Amino acid sequence: MRIKNMRPLIVGNWKCNPTTLVEAKRLFNLVKIGVKKIRNTEVVICPPFPYLAEFFDRCRKIQHLKLGAQDCFWEEKGAFTGEVSPKMLKDLNCEYIIIGHSERRRYFRENNEMINKKIKAVLNFGLKPILCIGETEKERKKGKAKEILKEQLQKGTESIKNLVVAYEPVWAIGTGKACGITEAKEAYSFIKRLAKNVPILYGGGVNSQNARDFIKKVGFQGLLVGGASLNPQEFTKIVKAVSSIPKCNILFFD
Ligand code: PEP
Repeated sequence: MRIKNMRPLIVGNWKCNPTTLVEAKRLFNLVKIGVKKIRNTEVVICPPFPYLAEFFDRCRKIQHLKLGAQDCFWEEKGAFTGEVSPKMLKDLNCEYIIIGHSERRRYFRENNEMINKKIKAVLNFGLKPILCIGETEKERKKGKAKEILKEQLQKGTESIKNLVVAYEPVWAIGTGKACGITEAKEAYSFIKRLAKNVPILYGGGVNSQNARDFIKKVGFQGLLVGGASLNPQEFTKIVKAVSSIPKCNILFFD
């Protein structure tokens, strides 16, 4: 690792959207046009797997626009029906891979041990893992938020130092109601103490009105954007809103 003058990292997670290649191409092209000139950021688009090959070349000419995936398996190849390996994703020009999103933990029963294996595999192929951590509403109400964050971080990153962490309170995801600044500050400093010298992103209800505050007021190094990344105008506004924030020095990937 080395110290890098890092630009705000804005990751768009399209989840299982849109449902046709025609729509995906349209969305991608509008995002590309929107962010093309906003150079003081690093923008990562994470479409569903079937669209990745289509976007392979479209990112090449814009240095600050990267391709990412929403998940991957830990094996390189073999008899694992339905799975996609980090090697395949690297071959498709992906640079970042989201791992351990709360929807994968919830609907596909991914646990911290599986997540740790996936992160190691991603790193083995020279890709950048974005580990999602976050507490549910129930866990928060029981006063267990920090305990959950600590467990997800420690087990997920066992023998790993080189990654991006995304704090995504599950109760804020997809609600349009982001975490408050005070709560975000508390979570940010807690995570920062445990995951030293790694970029930390915020995700959950990000829009063009609140985007800047998470970086400027709280200190996050970037954002993970779900719903708003499907609206090219709103996503471009988010990227623009954070683009004037000065770069920060952070230990980062070689
Ligand atoms: C997400 O699911 O990663 C996310 C941040 O969603 P949203 O922005 O829609 O809350």
